[in-house]
Amino acid sequence: MAPVDPHSYTDGAHPVTKHADLAFYLDFAASTIHGSALLTLSAPHSGDLLLDTRNITVHSATTAADPPEPIPFSLAASPDPVLGSALTLTLPSDTTSFRLTFSTSPAASALQWLAPPQTSSGQPFVFSQCQSIHARSIFPCHDTPAARITFSLLLNLPAQLSAVAAARHVTRRDPLPSDHRGACDEATWCATGRIVEEFEMEQSVPPYLFAFAAGGIGSRDLGPRTRVYAEGGEKVLDEAAREFAGVEEMVKVGEALFGPYDWERFDLLVLPPSFPYGGMENPRMVFLTPTVIKGDAAGAQVVAHELAHSWTGNLITNKTNEDFWLNEGYTTYAERRIVEVVQGEERAALNMGIGWRGLNQMMERFKDNMEFTKLKPKMAGIDPDDVYSEVPYEKGFQFLWRIERQIGRPAFDEFTKKYIAKFKFQSIDTETFLEFLKANVPGIENQIDLHLWVEGTGIPPDAMEPDSAIYKKICSLASEFKSGKLPSEDEVAEWNGQEWELYLENLPTDVEASQVTALDERYKLSESRDYEVKVAFLQLAIRAGCKCYFNEVEKCLKQVGRMKYLRPLYSALAKCSSEEKMLAQRIFSEAREFYHPIARGVAESILSKQG
Ligand SMILES: [Zn+2]
Repeated sequence: MAPVDPHSYTDGAHPVTKHADLAFYLDFAASTIHGSALLTLSAPHSGDLLLDTRNITVHSATTAADPPEPIPFSLAASPDPVLGSALTLTLPSDTTSFRLTFSTSPAASALQWLAPPQTSSGQPFVFSQCQSIHARSIFPCHDTPAARITFSLLLNLPAQLSAVAAARHVTRRDPLPSDHRGACDEATWCATGRIVEEFEMEQSVPPYLFAFAAGGIGSRDLGPRTRVYAEGGEKVLDEAAREFAGVEEMVKVGEALFGPYDWERFDLLVLPPSFPYGGMENPRMVFLTPTVIKGDAAGAQVVAHELAHSWTGNLITNKTNEDFWLNEGYTTYAERRIVEVVQGEERAALNMGIGWRGLNQMMERFKDNMEFTKLKPKMAGIDPDDVYSEVPYEKGFQFLWRIERQIGRPAFDEFTKKYIAKFKFQSIDTETFLEFLKANVPGIENQIDLHLWVEGTGIPPDAMEPDSAIYKKICSLASEFKSGKLPSEDEVAEWNGQEWELYLENLPTDVEASQVTALDERYKLSESRDYEVKVAFLQLAIRAGCKCYFNEVEKCLKQVGRMKYLRPLYSALAKCSSEEKMLAQRIFSEAREFYHPIARGVAESILSKQG
């Protein structure tokens, strides 16, 4: 066995899946997918082949021949808590493709099924989130970014719903007897009141970028290659269309900086509030939390980030989660370059300042386990969701910015374009990046301590805070808070959410409850519609022991399932006395069904470690 990825059973000595023909029957009543997958390998193979699964029931494995022959298979009896269960197939000689039929579990870690009372359309809704290692809970696959696939997808759903996917939409049509492919029986597949949405993904992607959603979804055109989709009806679509009006311009800025946009369309799907991330860069169809719609610059910055992934992450993909910084560090760098053009240098500097603060907070979070402050940490046996942090984003950004400062922006821009052109549609590791860097920037290893940046813990001494007047002003106002000085109305007159977020994040950790309430009485931060501001304030309130805000904390934890908010709020409560810990446990037990399984797992892990 030659493992290619600590998070997959994929054997590097064997061929991997290169194409999947998928047919899914969505059973909303049972929160289950009944599926069929015809997998095609990169080369013929005989004997054992391992695939990743989690909580999947495999019904059959057969050859692609006519008539099909059964293929012996076995599922590991006891699942590994991180990896799930290996599915071992014993393939007849020279097999290139084979079919599996299977059913997902209602507990599938990638899927959230929402009942009609949980949605704003009053229709059921389901969506997927496969990063990092959850595609295996939807269909058996080589669930490693090292193995890129193309795919076709048939989604069979109730006719009053519609579906979207991170793939080209081919057609919406009646189900045909020929296309159930064993996912379920023909009568069920073709029953009255069902419809099939057909998709095709011709560009190869890592399995974590497989994505779809189905429900009462509407849409609005934004530009020639951009459209916004949402579940919340006309009002949400109006707001989203306003928020994202500048998206087409952003795509053009991205192309000027990083080369052609290779994914044809850049559509956006606004999900229900339980979506666990700010955004997910699913190609052709970015998934977004509704909390990014707030009418200021910050929402557009999340879109800039997901757009930047079109080059760094989706075109060039990290080979394993240990190289995650190649995705997120490069994308954070690219995001800020787009923001700089679209919103100006000051906005980019604020964004950078919030990131710098976040990176420093991560050093505190991981002070007992500095491995996860490395750009390339060792991840064997570690659940990526448990150690998800800003380190790959912000330390990765700092590393690339350091190189830019060393060689100058024009040379670094040229390097980035060359890097993207060279490795597009490939999955690479950190060593490959470093080799390419050294080959194209001769002598760089004598100017920057590359080893320290990649293998070292903590923040290297040549990392840098952003240099901007507004950033410095906000930091100095924050440091005056301890002596009892609040910022004046004049000083905050021009502030948006990001200025407040930066201010709150930079306040001293040990502030008095009376100071916290005084700040809120003047600026009503606990009532902010901007969750970044609200959550930053509520963390401060919890730390200062202001019990009067616990109602607001509870409301917030029950309204939005984005992990960026759940993680700090649950962590802050769990670090307090037993009363706050019990409060956290109660809120979680009441809110858990509202959370996506990934967010549920993360909250559970926070509460079990510190409870
Ligand atoms: Zn990202």
